[in-house]
Amino acid sequence: MSIRESLLRLGREMLASGAVAGTWGNLSAWDEAHRGFWITPSGMDYRVLTERDLILLDPEGRVIEGFRRPSSEALLHARIYKARPDVRGIVHTHSVYATAHAVARTAIPAIVEDLVQIVGGMVETADYALPGTLELALAAAEGLKERNAVLLANHGLVGIGNSLDEAWKVCQVVEKGAMIHAWSKMLGSPVLLNDKDVETMRQGYMTHYGQK
Ligand code: 13P
Ligand code: ZN
Repeated sequence: MSIRESLLRLGREMLASGAVAGTWGNLSAWDEAHRGFWITPSGMDYRVLTERDLILLDPEGRVIEGFRRPSSEALLHARIYKARPDVRGIVHTHSVYATAHAVARTAIPAIVEDLVQIVGGMVETADYALPGTLELALAAAEGLKERNAVLLANHGLVGIGNSLDEAWKVCQVVEKGAMIHAWSKMLGSPVLLNDKDVETMRQGYMTHYGQK
């Protein structure tokens, strides 16, 4: 499946999953051959997007190809690719439990295996900034550090990965982790995983989890 087909497929999946409502959220995938990234257009229904609606941007966020207005968070995507050369896909959602944490300005701590394996630790909240601003882009890139997810204060979630599929998986696992964290706080006091076990699980995921 081509990069553009993957973006269209995941956009529809993201909407169907409830991670976004309406036209919010956005996603992009790095295209090494073009030394830039394909991104979804601003404010368009994921269900009717075609390949012609996607936009190819250079690392500064300037249009290389496409006639639609790119996502209003194009700079956020550009700054993350710049800060993290290992990243090949970025997904931005407004999923409910992750965003509840972003509103409460509460991190999603290291509490369960899949979350720490795929994110590399807790999910922190980046400094608040208005949507679509360079300030938000810088705050998100800064807030990610070496991890694969960051919360945008009073806004949503950004998941990144070495592929677009991985970035979407990050968003799904973070949302599930956020839900578990909220429920565990209702049941009692969540017990956090220790740093050593977090590191062991992360390394295990990267080196030999699955069919590697
Ligand atoms: P776009 O529709 O411009 O991608 O913006 C949605 C969004 O989530 C902004 O933060
Ligand atoms: Zn948003």
